[in-house]
Amino acid sequence: AHEFEVSARVAPLGSRLVLLLVEDRTEARRVDAVRRDFVANVSHELKTPVGALSLLAEAVMDASDDPEAIIRFAGRMQIESARLTNLVQELIDLSRVQNDHPLHHVGPVPLDDLVAEAADRCRQAAESKQITLAIGGDRELIVPGDHNQLVMALGNLVENAVNYSPARTRVDIEVRAEARMAVITVSDQGLGIPQRDLDRIFERFYRVDPARSRATGGTGLGLSIVKHIAAGHGGEVTVRSLEGVGSTFTLVLPFKSSTSQSMSMTSSTP
Ligand code: ADP
Repeated sequence: AHEFEVSARVAPLGSRLVLLLVEDRTEARRVDAVRRDFVANVSHELKTPVGALSLLAEAVMDASDDPEAIIRFAGRMQIESARLTNLVQELIDLSRVQNDHPLHHVGPVPLDDLVAEAADRCRQAAESKQITLAIGGDRELIVPGDHNQLVMALGNLVENAVNYSPARTRVDIEVRAEARMAVITVSDQGLGIPQRDLDRIFERFYRVDPARSRATGGTGLGLSIVKHIAAGHGGEVTVRSLEGVGSTFTLVLPFKSSTSQSMSMTSSTP
């Protein structure tokens, strides 16, 4: 339902007019609610690791004559502080990509470098689960964009594919050109995402399974960062998924975006 605010103003002295202003406040209300939710979510997400750290510090003090317990608690403190650092870093990243319009650091980004860097970020995690990272397709393409942001976006997709897949599966990163778009797909043979959650996973802090996400160090912010980066580049990110079978995330980036009209962008293929 729409919400209107009506106010009356008397026109300048001498005229016999009363101005009635009718303002549609629906969108302003929605933006307010989103902002309030975001602050509540951030506070909640920060409280969890901070609370755990404080309890662990108490436990260390109580265990002064048990060196093994102290080492165990210290290890958990390390995990909680890494989680806190990760959350703060992702909040900073999100705020950067949200506020970077138009993009400040646009240059030609070769997709073979982009894919290699994004895959490198996840190689260790993939190896520890014996997941094969396979790269293929037409990587000679070049898109205009912010190199660091694009590595962050694709890196987040590959990282999720590895995190939400069982051991000894395969993650495929494929690049192809379609019309004036570069299409990068990241496919996994992982858990998949239930149909009812598919439209919500790009929202800030939305997780299908909060416990699993936290266990893998997830913050629930990764996909909303990817969505903002894609939009900032004039592209988009979409998902297809089947529970128990796997997911495919598709990042579409224009060869020539409005942020790069002065740059002449060509693919290096003839
Ligand atoms: P997180 O930090 O929790 O991974 P994201 O914003 O990156 O947050 O993803 C949101 C949620 O979407 C995740 O918590 C997970 O439930 C789901 N998800 C994302 N990528 C995948 C994937 N490749 N396979 C299955 N589920 C996924």
